[in-house]
Amino acid sequence: MANELEHFIGGKRVAGTSGAYGDVFDPNTGRVQSRVPLASVEEVRAATANAAEAQREWAAQNPQKRARVLMKFLQLCQDEMDSLARLLASEHGKTVPDAKGDVQRGLEVVEFAAGIPHLLKGEYSEGAGTGIDVYSMRQPLGVAAGITPFNFPAMIPLWQAAPAIACGNSFVLKPSERDPSVPLRLAELFIEAGLPPGVLNVVNGDKTAVDAVLTDPDIDAVGFVGSSDIAEYIYSTAAAHGKRAQCFGGAKNHMIIMPDADLDGAVDALIGAGYGSAGERCMAISVAVPVGEPTANALVDKLTERVEQLRIGTSFDESADFGPLVTREAHQKVTDYIGVGVEEGAELLVDGRGYRKEGHEDGFFMGGSLFDHVTPDMRIYQEEIFGPVLSVVRAADYEEALRLPSEHEYGNGVAIFTRDGDTAREFAGRVDTGMVGINVPIPVPIAYHTFGGWKRSGFGDLNQHGPDSIRFYTQTKTVTSRWPSGRKEGASFSIPTMD
Ligand code: NAD
Repeated sequence: MANELEHFIGGKRVAGTSGAYGDVFDPNTGRVQSRVPLASVEEVRAATANAAEAQREWAAQNPQKRARVLMKFLQLCQDEMDSLARLLASEHGKTVPDAKGDVQRGLEVVEFAAGIPHLLKGEYSEGAGTGIDVYSMRQPLGVAAGITPFNFPAMIPLWQAAPAIACGNSFVLKPSERDPSVPLRLAELFIEAGLPPGVLNVVNGDKTAVDAVLTDPDIDAVGFVGSSDIAEYIYSTAAAHGKRAQCFGGAKNHMIIMPDADLDGAVDALIGAGYGSAGERCMAISVAVPVGEPTANALVDKLTERVEQLRIGTSFDESADFGPLVTREAHQKVTDYIGVGVEEGAELLVDGRGYRKEGHEDGFFMGGSLFDHVTPDMRIYQEEIFGPVLSVVRAADYEEALRLPSEHEYGNGVAIFTRDGDTAREFAGRVDTGMVGINVPIPVPIAYHTFGGWKRSGFGDLNQHGPDSIRFYTQTKTVTSRWPSGRKEGASFSIPTMD
């Protein structure tokens, strides 16, 4: 009998009442391990109304007190890191060390948000006019909502919730229905850390719950992370209902390997960034672009050997490079893409289809795959595969290599491997993507900078975490003040200027 999960509303777990459920798998065995309730419109409404009620008192607490809750939460999560990572791995399929990274990268944004007393300081202009002072303050929006993907079930909810609540908002999280247990546990830990009930509610669900969030009168802002078509839908629907939105989508991240690059270093980087977490990362490298034929030939030789040696294991196998994919559908989708690549004429050097893990034959395991001679007109180049599949696109020269990521419809991350500082600097300035790595394959910015892709990888103008997150979760109020001085100027009918 599968375990039944709940929602988390008003500081406690509550059973679903809609009667609709989704299956949560154990990707290692292929079995259903839990049923997650899928919220109805009424359940979402109840959660957002509860969050709106809780927000007023929370916003009235001074920012230092709010920061202390975050500090306590950090401690509780560190104490529970092992079990959080194991819970995460058991539903997602990523390995336990990688799951710890998922939690840790989320906590780093909590650390950033704990600086909220400083981050909320406004601006002040003394004597902007005679006897006039102008100042601005950053005030919370009210209730913010987050809709998050399966692939980082700790990190992305924390990237959104921590700055949102630090700014004095309450937050309603609609996590992925594939791996909802860690978000639920994080909400419990927040309560243990002293967060008042209702300031963070978790509503599980699917499109019905998402649409209820997008039209809910109590929700002021929506943060979304997931695939691009849904990101665009959320962005336009949220805007049409008067909500601010930041929506991050899919990716096709390229890594350019210049002829002067340290080739062994580049191969190590490609193996980790291409196949880690079974390629289910929005910042995974899925396209390698060696520049010039000698670089391409040497790179492909080394890569082929390494991809054949990848160790695929269960999430709990300490020697595994990566674990199973998240669901049977995800496994099928990646399998189908490999077939498409073969039909399109790409050269499949290593075929990960058909990989079976002994003793775990029904798990969603797949070996690493490597394509050579992929070209920009192929679907396997244009579309996001989101699996352990790396495509090599050979570029004749630097300009062609620069054009590939720049002209791709996605613009999340990109990396260049070179020993030449001038080339690297030129590339970083000209390439049309949101995040750039120089000899760094996965350039996910640290918590106090901001994260966000361009083009179809990001809809909206403010990035996640860092200073942009404080702007996203607050509204600016500007006060122009003059105290009576006894001097009377009479009524003025012209617009005041600073002449
Ligand atoms: P997804 O788009 O299927 O789901 C994301 C969220 O949207 C989930 O909470 C889901 O319940 C909800 N959703 C799904 N279908 C919906 C619909 N029709 N209407 C409304 N809501 C819907 O994405 P996923 O498979 O969970 O995650 C993988 C995707 O997320 C990949 O494309 C990956 O690149 C992307 N991603 C992007 C970033 C980034 O920062 N750019 C980070 C992580 C993941």
